Amino acid sequence: MSCQYVGTIPGRIPVLAVVLFGGVILAFGAAGRLSFAAQRPVVVVDPGHGGDDVGVRGSQGAVEKDRMLALALELQKALAPTCRVELTRSGDEQIDLAQRTALANHLEASVFVSLHAGGSFLHGPRGATIFFFRGAQGADGPAAGADFGQEEQPRWEHLQNRHLASSRSLAKVLLDSLAGVLDTSLVGAPLAVLAGADLPAVLIEVGYLTHPFEAEQLGNPEALRALARAIAAGVADFLENAAPEKH
Ligand SMILES: [Zn+2]
Repeated sequence: MSCQYVGTIPGRIPVLAVVLFGGVILAFGAAGRLSFAAQRPVVVVDPGHGGDDVGVRGSQGAVEKDRMLALALELQKALAPTCRVELTRSGDEQIDLAQRTALANHLEASVFVSLHAGGSFLHGPRGATIFFFRGAQGADGPAAGADFGQEEQPRWEHLQNRHLASSRSLAKVLLDSLAGVLDTSLVGAPLAVLAGADLPAVLIEVGYLTHPFEAEQLGNPEALRALARAIAAGVADFLENAAPEKH
C-alpha cells in the first residue's frame, strides 16, 4: 500500500511520499533517510479571533472568526497524514493571544501557524500576506539575542527572537507554496501573537474578506480545501527541508 500526500496543487510536485513497507511507515526525504513524518511533528494551527472577537466583517456576511476556523479544520485534515495537528480553538471561543502560542510552546511544537483574513474599508485590496516576526526597532529588534544566556530564561515576549531565521524560512517556503493559489507577499512585523512563540511561527492573512471575490472563495469549501492544501504543502516542505533539528 502506498499513499501520496499533497499531490494536487497545480504545478507542484508532491513534497512528500509516504510509503508503507512491511507494516512500517517510512518517510523518505531527499537523502532517503528516515525523516520528519516518522516522528510526527506537532503543528499548532491557530484560527484567529473567536467568541466576541469576530475579526473582520466582510462581504456577503462573511465573518473572519468563522472562516478561519473552517480553514483551520481543513488544514488539520491536510496535515493529518504526516503531523499531529493541534488547534488553539476548535469552537467559537475567545482566547488570549498569549495562550495561543503558550499551547505551542507547551507541546514543544515544530511549527505555529496563525490564520487570519485581511480587511479594508475599500473593496480593492486583495491577496495574501505572510507575516513573520520582526522587532519594532530594526530588523530583529533591540532584544534579539540579548537575553538568551545559558542560565537565564528569556522573557516571554522575547521568545520569538530565538527563531527569527527559521520563521523567515517558514514564511518563504509558504510564499512558494501559496504562489499558485493567491498573490502573496511577505512582511516582517512586531506582531504580538508571534512574540511569545518559542518555535518557528508565522501569521498568514489568507486574502481579504472585504474583497468580494476573495470573500466568496473563503466561503467556498473547494477553494478553502485548495488553500489548506497549499499551506500544508509549505509546512511539510519546511519540516522536511528547513526546520531546525529538534532535540
Ligand atoms: Zn484577524
